[in-house]
Amino acid sequence: MRVTVFGIGYVGLVQAAVMAEVGHDVVCIDVDQNKVDKLKEGIIPIYEPGLTPLVKSNFEAGRLQFTTDAKKGIEHGNLIFIAVGTPPDEDGSADLKYVLAVAETIATHMQGHKVVINKSTVPVGTADKVRNKISDTLKSLGKETTFDVVSNPEFLKEGSAVNDCMRPDRIILGTDSEQAEKLLRELYSPFNRNHDKVITMDIRSAELTKYAANCMLATKISFMNEIANLAERFGADVENVRRGIGSDPRIGYQFIYPGCGYGGSCFPKDVQALVRSANAAGYQARVLEAVEAVNYDQKEKLFEYINRHFSGDLKGKKVALWGLSFKPNTDDMREASSRVLMEKLWAAGASVQAFDPEAMEETQRIYGVRQDLQLTGTKEAALAGADFLVICTEWQAFRAPDFEAIKAALTYPLIFDGRNLFEPTRMMEYGLHYYAIGRGLSV
Ligand code: NAD
Repeated sequence: MRVTVFGIGYVGLVQAAVMAEVGHDVVCIDVDQNKVDKLKEGIIPIYEPGLTPLVKSNFEAGRLQFTTDAKKGIEHGNLIFIAVGTPPDEDGSADLKYVLAVAETIATHMQGHKVVINKSTVPVGTADKVRNKISDTLKSLGKETTFDVVSNPEFLKEGSAVNDCMRPDRIILGTDSEQAEKLLRELYSPFNRNHDKVITMDIRSAELTKYAANCMLATKISFMNEIANLAERFGADVENVRRGIGSDPRIGYQFIYPGCGYGGSCFPKDVQALVRSANAAGYQARVLEAVEAVNYDQKEKLFEYINRHFSGDLKGKKVALWGLSFKPNTDDMREASSRVLMEKLWAAGASVQAFDPEAMEETQRIYGVRQDLQLTGTKEAALAGADFLVICTEWQAFRAPDFEAIKAALTYPLIFDGRNLFEPTRMMEYGLHYYAIGRGLSV
């Protein structure tokens, strides 16, 4: 099938690549000329396991094209995906300017019938706005072309995005058009063979489903962080509590890890956006407001431990930092807890020596060259000459380090672990002072 994808980011690029892999003919459009040029040279702008060979082979086979030429893209596809960013506006609500700009572009260049599929995460009612934008633009141009608008939110997880798109848990289709549903079922049929994963519904419910999913996951994290904060005060160990409650199948073990807060491009902005949408509809989303507030505080937790340990005297301290990305297996630094920590350390006069397996380039791009940030080639090099170690991201490579070497390298035998990777009693045996989240020893 002939498919066009607007927006070559984490969502657009991965979806385009997997669709090309199963034989669809995909044209990707982005306004970022640099990104398009790099992709044509085989340089993939993001780190995502398995993505590079997929993009390269399909590009070489001619099934995956990259361009900034919107007209060419719109002529190509009868199915047109919108996968551009929906960043938070100043007040936290989702900014739809990129989505609506694409809608206008589609209307400007479309000739025959098109199915416009919204994959970006957008507030309920956005499909109506897209429809109106296309209709108004067509009218102003004197065109009478027909079109459908479908909501097809994306559920991929950064770090396993290729696998998630190849083997989706569900494919949500919000549509009022039988014809559009038929086409999308056909498009997704290569990914829908094991059992029927397509769940069809009205457009507004599909739009809300995406927010509900992300807000539920964020709620699990903030809830667990709240229990961790209580465990600290009560002298309990949250890791025992986690195993204790996870054994209840109604709760389950997944996504109940306490830590130094959630980040990324989705949870923070989607929780905020739903809170703002609720307000606009005259409803105060109190649970979600609390989820956001708990997470905000949780991101400051590591700095609080550190600051308290050194009685507020951090001037001149050199901090070894392992993990910069907001979670493992990605280079994405958006809303990462490491950023909150580093910025607070710098403000307190400390410097940072950091290592991350994938996010070093992105860190450099964000912070540029500064005296109080040194990016090192290995996790061991980050320890050299540092006063203590902080862990912000649970990369596999950090799970079983050489503790003797850590102790020998640091001025103080001290670890602040924002992801609860180690056993506190074991750390004690190594002679390491160990702060973790909600494990009793941190208060
Ligand atoms: P991203 O920022 O990585 O990529 C967006 C791309 O859109 C950029 O390359 C940008 O240049 C391009 N763009 C902007 N305006 C354009 C236009 N007019 N025409 C063509 N391209 C344009 O964003 P992302 O992380 O891929 O997210 C996209 C959407 O998907 C967001 O709504 C996000 O909430 C949602 N989403 C993201 C994830 C995720 O894990 N990243 C998962 C599910 C859903």
